[in-house]
Amino acid sequence: MKFTEEIKVKGQLVFLRVDFNVPLDENLKIRDETRIKASLPTIKYLLENGARLVVASHLGRPKGQFNPKMSLKPVAERLREMLPGTTVIMAPDVIGPEVDRLKTSLKEGELLLLENVRFYNQETDNEADFSKKLAAGCQVFVNDAFGSCHRAHASVVGITAYIPEKAAGFLLKKEVEHLSRITHHPEKPYVAILGGAKIEDKIPVLESLVNKADVLLIGGAMAYTFLKAQGKGVGQSLVEEDKLKIADSIMKKAEDNGVKIILPLDHVLTSSLDSQEIEMVADSYPLPDNLMAVDIGPKTIAEYEKYIKSARTIFWNGPLGVFEVKAFSSGTVEIARAVASSSAFSVVGGGDSIAAIHQAGVADRISHISTGGGASLEFIAYGTLPGIEALK
Ligand code: AMP
Repeated sequence: MKFTEEIKVKGQLVFLRVDFNVPLDENLKIRDETRIKASLPTIKYLLENGARLVVASHLGRPKGQFNPKMSLKPVAERLREMLPGTTVIMAPDVIGPEVDRLKTSLKEGELLLLENVRFYNQETDNEADFSKKLAAGCQVFVNDAFGSCHRAHASVVGITAYIPEKAAGFLLKKEVEHLSRITHHPEKPYVAILGGAKIEDKIPVLESLVNKADVLLIGGAMAYTFLKAQGKGVGQSLVEEDKLKIADSIMKKAEDNGVKIILPLDHVLTSSLDSQEIEMVADSYPLPDNLMAVDIGPKTIAEYEKYIKSARTIFWNGPLGVFEVKAFSSGTVEIARAVASSSAFSVVGGGDSIAAIHQAGVADRISHISTGGGASLEFIAYGTLPGIEALK
């Protein structure tokens, strides 16, 4: 795989795929511009080196329909402010004669931002004809959209068949370097922390980690499917009944491989999420029939901290409780602090875990905060992603 610095971009029509999937408020103002800032180094490098730059992204889920609420126009406005002196043109469409005309007349150092690629279903279908139209006139493809690399979509994968020169942007390069350090040669002990609501999207990563990690700390709602699979009474806690068998087989594989799975030892219980109040903390089973677990308790925090402290490599994805509710956020915030205090190489992915890191004010003490939640999980599981393979 080549990197941006290794290819000629001067005078070339460069198609840059970024992740500008930013949250917008009801007045279509950008609520958080982290994702725009993350690709600025690649954008600036390409413009300064004389590229004629076409930029593409998705935003939200317009499901193949033109939708002004998911237009990239607010991003174009923000880019004009962030890149003073640069001509930033907002395209009226993603493909078609008008876009082709704008591409042809683009000068060196100018930027053309295409409309939301997901205004077309052919994007998510990775359709060949649409990919070809996206690629029209472009000599270079640069991918800097790490958060979309786990998707075999037209602007990520399909397009690469129609553009001769391909490279990874600076953001993608950084992600691949840091995540490869964990997947390919993690320093031991390697401790993985997984939380969140569902086992479903974490099955591939769990199956990979029972072969690679030394310890798996499992919290969040997903822990209760594991505890139930062990035959424990978990009250009203969230359980994925159809995943009990998978949970059981993951625990068996871990045991066979000498990998420790540590489940919560005590539980913060509530009578309802709406009450936002702690009813009790329990450390024995069965948990009361009328209560649900919404956070890990102090004994669990202490136990997890012990493993986190002795780790040399840490990967964390998913909150350990319903951390959006202040009363149920201690476990997640304490674990964020523990990860930050450890001297291990630490990687955190997923919106909620990253929010907890910021809430705890420790972002600068994490080795790498991944910009892609789903993408980082899949990279850890498979060691690569469709969008990365397509660049090779
Ligand atoms: P995910 O998208 O799978 O990472 O799940 C994130 C969500 O899991 C967050 O919105 C949390 O509120 C939720 N969550 C974490 N722990 C629990 C729990 N014990 N019970 C219910 N929901 C939880």
